[in-house]
Amino acid sequence: ATPTALLVGTGRGAQLGILVKGPEVLESTRRVTTVVLDKTGTITTGQMSVVDVVPAPGVTTERLLHLAGAVESASEHPVARAIAAGAASSGQVVDFRNAEGLGVTGVVDGAVVVVGRPRLLAQHGIELPAELVSAMAGAEANGRTVVAAGADGAALGVISVADTVKPTSAEAIARLRALGLRPVLLTGDNERVARAIAAEVGITDVIAEVLPAEKVAAVERLRAEGAVVAMVGDGVNDAPALAAADLGLAMGTGTDAAIEASDLTIVRGDPRLVADAIALSRRTLATIK
Ligand code: ADP
Ligand code: MG
Repeated sequence: ATPTALLVGTGRGAQLGILVKGPEVLESTRRVTTVVLDKTGTITTGQMSVVDVVPAPGVTTERLLHLAGAVESASEHPVARAIAAGAASSGQVVDFRNAEGLGVTGVVDGAVVVVGRPRLLAQHGIELPAELVSAMAGAEANGRTVVAAGADGAALGVISVADTVKPTSAEAIARLRALGLRPVLLTGDNERVARAIAAEVGITDVIAEVLPAEKVAAVERLRAEGAVVAMVGDGVNDAPALAAADLGLAMGTGTDAAIEASDLTIVRGDPRLVADAIALSRRTLATIK
């Protein structure tokens, strides 16, 4: 194949806001059959805000937000940033720890505070009372990300955070389908939340509740089934999966780690450009033949 047409293709890509690492990337782009998309920051804006706070029986909303807000102020996670901003806690955290894909822990006012998935609270011996379990399930069915909090072995409450589906996400999925590609949503978030967001944008295949390390395994599994996989993501925790996929696409609005691990970068964070990049490479290579 003549490199000239490939270079023209990459030049056209740059005009569209698609940055390609090298002309050879177009070849793998053309063979893609399955497009795995991260949820937070790729399908959604990732700009989250607190929409509901439910304290455990006997706990005040103030105490829940004071303790959870203090721990989350030490985390960079989008969920943490929303909670820290919503709580505006004056509490100081020491001994802060991040449990990747699960949540955070720290000591505030002498209490050991845990904020994150119920699985993380369980690891600290904290059971959620029935009213909190049902509050979580209800909010999750509406597509909210819900985290639980506890201190010194007892539940403090749950906090619901709303993310927003990008206005172009549904069209992005429709464009992928028009090209004959299979979209799959991949997320560390809860299954109910993932299903609600997927339904909103027209995705039926969902892989949820995966730890960051398991995202690679999910991509490998699809490849073992014969799929040629493009992975689209933005987070530090997406980087290994972006590198493991046949083709990695990073959101330009995402982290440096994601961009470095990818073959292709979508400049404006518009997911419609994923399908456009694949269509462009098909056209470019058809010209060469
Ligand atoms: P995603 O795949 O959507 O980017 P992550 O793997 O980063 O999600 O996180 C998965 C889940 O772990 C979140 O939905 C949240 O429930 C929990 N979690 C991660 N970090 C935090 C944190 N700092 N505070 C509370 N919960 C967290
Ligand atoms: Mg993300």
